[in-house]
Amino acid sequence: MIAVTVPFTRLRPGEDAADVDTAIRRVLDRGWFVLGPEVEAFEDEFARAVGTACAVGVGTGTDAIALILRALGIGAGDEVITTPLSAAYTALAVMMAGARPVFADLDESRFTLDPAAVEAAISARTRAILPVHLYGQPANLPALARIAAQHHLALVEDCCQAHLATCGGRPVGTFGVAGAYSFYPTKNLGALGDAGAVVTGDRGLADRLKRLRNGGQTDRYRHAEAGVNSRLDELQAAVLRARLPWLATWTARRRTLAARYRDALASADVSLPTECDAGHVYHLFVIRSKQRDRLQSHLADCGVEALIHYPIPIPRQPAVASTRPADCPIADRVCRELLSLPLHPAMGDEEADAVARAVCVFA
Ligand SMILES: *Cc1c(COP(=O)(O)O)cnc(C)c1O
Repeated sequence: MIAVTVPFTRLRPGEDAADVDTAIRRVLDRGWFVLGPEVEAFEDEFARAVGTACAVGVGTGTDAIALILRALGIGAGDEVITTPLSAAYTALAVMMAGARPVFADLDESRFTLDPAAVEAAISARTRAILPVHLYGQPANLPALARIAAQHHLALVEDCCQAHLATCGGRPVGTFGVAGAYSFYPTKNLGALGDAGAVVTGDRGLADRLKRLRNGGQTDRYRHAEAGVNSRLDELQAAVLRARLPWLATWTARRRTLAARYRDALASADVSLPTECDAGHVYHLFVIRSKQRDRLQSHLADCGVEALIHYPIPIPRQPAVASTRPADCPIADRVCRELLSLPLHPAMGDEEADAVARAVCVFA
């Protein structure tokens, strides 16, 4: 076994460490830990960063998606069209809301929902379209928004991998009725544990979400509806506030590293990701290879940790398969070829070059 020399990611605070320490100290000294001043301030600051009127902090990105659907009145008997290639949580969130995920195949050039496949999947029960801005690349939002409007469907954006991404210059999360964000530690903006948020321009929807995340309470100890417990805590909100000012710098660094990979891998025997929009934020840098498994072990032998996002199309997950056997041949094919190279803001140029060299010598 060779010790990993280029790890897939690094989660210990780096250049933000002093800011994170200060934030944690502030919360400890105040002695207020759940849904308080840090959460409110983070909601304001995050809404401003994303360019929406409102943000609502919740426990996880999965909860953010499920609660948006619930707040829109989508549940049992309803269908939500989504992508076969994502973290399975996207579809699990639809099921948590009581609705059924229906899978439309991918646009192979960007690995996100193909608008034509979405249109073909619409039925009398369809209530929403749930695209994922996978790996940081915006889905084809203008086309999806047009289809949603034509068929009177809600457009709900899974932005869990796309913090500060834009589509044609406009922030993701602002095309649909709401956007869901995760701040799981590995995301472009990560907390020190689980955390999530919904962004929306609809104040009524935001108010409904604030009730739903907190047990459905309208006033203290008065539960008007059966909400859930999905509150954002003060420590995570304070950490997120400390890191939010770094996010633009970190995003620029991700783009620089992606460009470096593109140059260094131009003649390698792999397919590079297509950048369909300059607003791509490179949560992941995902290449394709017909010999993916061999390439991954070769990289491991070279001390490079490469991971697969995702090895199994969601419709083929046992947890989801029963809801509808979906036919997504493009997703089936790409899942056998995808490989994510290390890319994170703390990574040095020499590390990216070492990864690229290891890919180039693969035969
Ligand atoms: C991380 C992620 C989720 C789930 O977010 P959690 O905070 O882990 O619940 C959902 N969708 C996508 C695309 C993700 O990357």
